[in-house]
Amino acid sequence: MKEQLNIALVAHDSRKKELIEWVKYNATLLSKHNLYATGTTGRLISEVVVLKEQQGNEQTYSYPLKDKVTCLFSGPLGGDQQIGAMIAEGKIDMLIFFCDNLVMQGHQNDVSALTRLASLYNIAFATNRTTADMILTSKLLGDENYEMIVPDCIQRYANRTL
Ligand code: PGA
Repeated sequence: MKEQLNIALVAHDSRKKELIEWVKYNATLLSKHNLYATGTTGRLISEVVVLKEQQGNEQTYSYPLKDKVTCLFSGPLGGDQQIGAMIAEGKIDMLIFFCDNLVMQGHQNDVSALTRLASLYNIAFATNRTTADMILTSKLLGDENYEMIVPDCIQRYANRTL
């Protein structure tokens, strides 16, 4: 696994708070990687504030992810599809996607397309916090000998005869 990963992050409105809490908790680790996010999620990530130093009553804060996240279009305006295309192009190693499981989205087709591609291309993929925690703390992340395998079915499909 390469040292610096390309990590995509998306959260539907009802789960943005949860994702931002998770990002804040993992800000130091995440700041070592390249982050990509749908528009609103990305803006919130870039605004994450953490306590840097406390001296007496003086507190210094920092924005560890301010310049670390590339904001794509907002999800419903094509951002999910942009991330999906990046996955198909081999440009994304990990997707953290906290989707609303209770409400059907206006862009539900895009949501389904994105989750399908994440599954198809065998990238690390979490739709909830526990799985996101497990992925980010996996010892395989730091293992230079670990290689993500692109499934054979993709090449077979691309080369199929009709
Ligand atoms: P947003 O998009 O980060 O721009 O809100 C998320 C989504 O609904 O896919």
